[in-house]
Amino acid sequence: MNRRDALTHAFLTDLPMEAEQFPNLIHAIEDVARDVLTVEKNDPDYTASRALRRLTDPDRIISFRVTWQDDAGDVQINKGWRVQGSQVIGPYKGGLRFHPTVNEDILRFLAFEQCFKNALTGLPLGGAKGGSDFDPTGRSENEIMRFCQAFMRQLAPYIGPDQDVPAGDINVGAREIGYLFGAYRAHAGQFGGGALTGKGLSYGGSKLRVEATGFGLVYFTECALAAKDDSIEGKRIAISGKGNVATHAALKAIDRGAKVIALSDTDGALHCQDGMSADLIEWVQGQKDKGADICDPPKGQGAKFEGGKVAWDYEPDIALPCATQNELTEDMAKTLIDGGVTMVGEGANMPLTSEAATAFHNAGVTHLPGKAANAGGVAVSGLEMSQNSHRKFASADEIDAALRDIMSDIHARVCVDGSTENGEINYVRGANIAAYRRLADAIVAQGIL
Ligand code: GLU
Repeated sequence: MNRRDALTHAFLTDLPMEAEQFPNLIHAIEDVARDVLTVEKNDPDYTASRALRRLTDPDRIISFRVTWQDDAGDVQINKGWRVQGSQVIGPYKGGLRFHPTVNEDILRFLAFEQCFKNALTGLPLGGAKGGSDFDPTGRSENEIMRFCQAFMRQLAPYIGPDQDVPAGDINVGAREIGYLFGAYRAHAGQFGGGALTGKGLSYGGSKLRVEATGFGLVYFTECALAAKDDSIEGKRIAISGKGNVATHAALKAIDRGAKVIALSDTDGALHCQDGMSADLIEWVQGQKDKGADICDPPKGQGAKFEGGKVAWDYEPDIALPCATQNELTEDMAKTLIDGGVTMVGEGANMPLTSEAATAFHNAGVTHLPGKAANAGGVAVSGLEMSQNSHRKFASADEIDAALRDIMSDIHARVCVDGSTENGEINYVRGANIAAYRRLADAIVAQGIL
């Protein structure tokens, strides 16, 4: 065992948690620990502060019961949580996810990742994540509203513009943020505009917040291509998912001259050999908004839906996993490698299994980790918070220019620690170390708390 593996093994063994109960959290911690423990050990202040160990335990976890009434008048009961990871560089900040797979392991891993992602943006944002095991599938508009109100009744005492600022994540979009914000405002008895981000434009939202994660992912991918004297033009890009991140990444990639050859959902892949049009992507968005499937795409677009396939089956140059954690397995990585993929950019949080990440690393595929590549969403949330404080709003062009700058600054930060002897950039290592240094410097400066 080399020093790095020995340190990581000892660190993980010492964590006060059962591995079987927290597989995703341990996966996320292990990925970071492997890169940063040697940095921590080489700095006496970092070592003494036990910065990484402190970051693996959230400041607190708020958990609550959400009781609400369905349309039939029956009482429904769900679980809700907010994991407040770290406030050391800014107010807690991160999304809310409503999905039946949500549990403490998933939210702790997401909150841990969020602390590092937010540190990379260069903005004053701490890290958090929250959500519920509520499944919105098939629920009426009124049920969604009542659930959001019941959820916020429990969460409201713990959030606020300088305390903790939730936003959206899977199944929490503009509609849910509207209901959550309304319920927060009613509880607080004041407008409290900065208490949530992803708000509608009519009540304090930012231009381009909806598009930001997908657009930012493409901007970051372009930075990584430029670092290899390459460009996105003409590249064949496969994207998993059909939600907010996936479709906005697709639209921006098309706008930048790439060919988007696939999108996907749990039933199969929408494939278009010559590249999708923006119209087709907008059709996908419309279907998703209606809760309808994408199995029957409009004729004349050269697109067909292939049940049982995944987006990675079509030999892309670039793969953008934008669906969910652990979606891209070792077998899928091998399919992509055999098909000639050269770059994988994570729109989702931790979409690669450890085995898939190792396979890409060994094959020399450039891996852009989510904490850097998908930070555009939370970055524009940060800009929404500033606009709420100023009570002055920026134009779409101004936000787009700021988003590009932030993604390019993140790229530059990651390159500092990710440069390797052979001239390649190790983005995973660079992102972990750059984010860790920012957090650890703040932890050391603020003393033992
Ligand atoms: N849920 C998004 C993420 O994973 C955005 C969080 C936010 O805007 O606070 O980064």
